[in-house]
Amino acid sequence: MSSRRDFIRLVVGATGASYALGLVSCGRPPRVEQTSGGRVQTATPQFRTAHRFLRDRHQIPVPDRTEDVDILVVGGGVSGLAAAAWLEQEGRRPTVVENDLQPGGAAQSTSLAGGLVPLGSVYFVDPTPELRLLLDTAEIMPVGCPEDAFDFGHGTVVRDLWRDDVLRSVIADDTDRVGMQRFRDDLLDLGDRLPPYPLPEALEPWQAALDRPAEPWVKSYGSATLTSILNAYSRSSLGALLSGTNVYCLQNFYSSEFGSPYGQQRYTIPGGPGVLTAAVAARLSDVRAGHVCVRMRQDVRTAEADCVDQDGRVVRFRARAIVMAGPKYQAPYLVEDLPADQAQACSMLAYAPYMTIHIVSDEPLTEPMIYDTWNLSSESETDVVNPGSVPGSDFNGHVSSLFVPMDRFARGQLMHDELFARKVADIIDQFLRTRTPQQRASVREVFAWGWGHGLVIPTPGSHSGIAQRAARQHGRIVFANADCDAAPAMEGAASHGVRAAGKAVLVGGDGG
Ligand SMILES: Cc1cc2nc3c(=O)[nH]c(=O)nc-3n(C[C@H](O)[C@H](O)[C@H](O)COP(=O)(O)OP(=O)(O)OC[C@H]3O[C@@H](n4cnc5c(N)ncnc54)[C@H](O)[C@@H]3O)c2cc1C
Repeated sequence: MSSRRDFIRLVVGATGASYALGLVSCGRPPRVEQTSGGRVQTATPQFRTAHRFLRDRHQIPVPDRTEDVDILVVGGGVSGLAAAAWLEQEGRRPTVVENDLQPGGAAQSTSLAGGLVPLGSVYFVDPTPELRLLLDTAEIMPVGCPEDAFDFGHGTVVRDLWRDDVLRSVIADDTDRVGMQRFRDDLLDLGDRLPPYPLPEALEPWQAALDRPAEPWVKSYGSATLTSILNAYSRSSLGALLSGTNVYCLQNFYSSEFGSPYGQQRYTIPGGPGVLTAAVAARLSDVRAGHVCVRMRQDVRTAEADCVDQDGRVVRFRARAIVMAGPKYQAPYLVEDLPADQAQACSMLAYAPYMTIHIVSDEPLTEPMIYDTWNLSSESETDVVNPGSVPGSDFNGHVSSLFVPMDRFARGQLMHDELFARKVADIIDQFLRTRTPQQRASVREVFAWGWGHGLVIPTPGSHSGIAQRAARQHGRIVFANADCDAAPAMEGAASHGVRAAGKAVLVGGDGG
């Protein structure tokens, strides 16, 4: 990855304060260009390449060379890395091609303030066998995640909110409070009726009934505070307001969010899950970073993928099978002869753009030992993560990571340097207005990171047919990725990576 210092620039916020601001848009390391206004970043050649061939449909040049490989994995996020780790464990020889220069996808970290800061994924709730495979491959032990808290905008931050005594002290209105208690108890009581992931091929009737908008269900509890908390959670973790997400996913995800008073543990890694993905990628035998796959096709004996490397050369990989572990919105452009109903299902999956803004300061900007502070009075950031609260982390100063899910129509802001910088400066201004003058004065620098397609959104209707159809095996091409569940979580990504790897072995033969 390029040095962050290469693309730091000064941005003046609405309050007149100026920030040293590092920007990276669309999850791609930037190329630095000198302008009269200072050093600004623009999209990388790889990012341009993906747009050129996948979005704008330019003709793909003739390959410079062909390589025969065993199983090709396209995409080096959690799902692609899990697929490759499993294949190597089975004695196969996977080759991973990854668009970015740094593998990890939505689970990656960057160096900041003398430590490592997660740019996307921050924790997981279930150390599933597939996540264990990654942890064992990397020889990393996860640590318990510190607790969250809620900032209601009154200057006080509330810990252990879901405990009855705390609810009583914070929420005076009986209807409001009782609604929250009922919601909590209903979710905790679900037990075997917790809607499962990975998504079943066909949902049972009680599961299909949950594939409906979450908002009326949440509102049925009659608690304004609950609706406010869950709207923030839904935006942050599912990519859209409750009106745009489904009950199925919300029940599954939120059932583990009540904290240690309810025996719930979440896990993370000092430096973030990006430490895990980087270590797994380093242990795999063949990972080609900086390779954009722009076409896949197959015949009865082999599958082929054309990939453009950093120098613009096209490499054709000929494989026994391909694990497609990149997002499915690309599949209709990437995969030749994808059946029309599958292409349509892929295009119906929705993705939220997202930015995370990391503020380095000398004073702490949130409660020091809280991991994630939910900011219920902000329309921009939903929550602020404090990576320094994770046991084993060490920063030179304090880092506050603002999580800012964006509306789908705002995706273009991430691709325009000035709009991106202006948006970031506005959000920081708003955030710092609620801090003390000393805290404001202690801000040293800011680093912002954006994804064009950060989270797949569990939209109402996505779970009963669309996600399953989009993920259907297509001959020698099998699909992985968290969006096989239309639900964004590391556990889902890892499980679909391993499943797809198993199918690739079946379809690809013995590899001898
Ligand atoms: C801000 C944010 C916070 C999150 N927080 C959490 C959290 O705390 N806990 C949690 O469980 N989940 C969280 N998630 C969701 C979770 O990170 C993702 O669901 C998961 O990491 C997705 O992994 P994946 O491998 O399926 O996809 P991705 O991470 O998207 O990986 C796909 C990879 O494929 C590469 N690629 C794409 N197209 C091509 C191509 N044509 N050729 C080659 N390579 C290609 C991409 O560069 C990328 O590296 C968060 C996500 C975001 C964005």
